[in-house]
Amino acid sequence: MDKNNSNKPDLEDEELRKFLKKYSPEKLYSEGVKASEKPETCPECGSSDIADIMYGLPVFDESLRKNVDRGNIRLGGCVITGFDAQWQCRKCELKIYMKK
Ligand SMILES: [Zn+2]
Repeated sequence: MDKNNSNKPDLEDEELRKFLKKYSPEKLYSEGVKASEKPETCPECGSSDIADIMYGLPVFDESLRKNVDRGNIRLGGCVITGFDAQWQCRKCELKIYMKK
């Protein structure tokens, strides 16, 4: 019975590695592009449909809600990693980072 256990791949570890590989900030950072200001069009697909990503806990008022509903603003969550994209293309999901 022990033999079966030892031959079984460690799925949890595997899943965790995949998750980290997919979502690690460095990975996200390397997949995006940098811009000094919000680009008019997506450098990847040319779409002008670019959303602002808002971090932290914004005051969720009516106007913000409308913007989020329309997809003009995306909520990036509360955790600031230092690698957070400022904008994101709504068509191809390309992340755009502020050039520092
Ligand atoms: Zn795009």
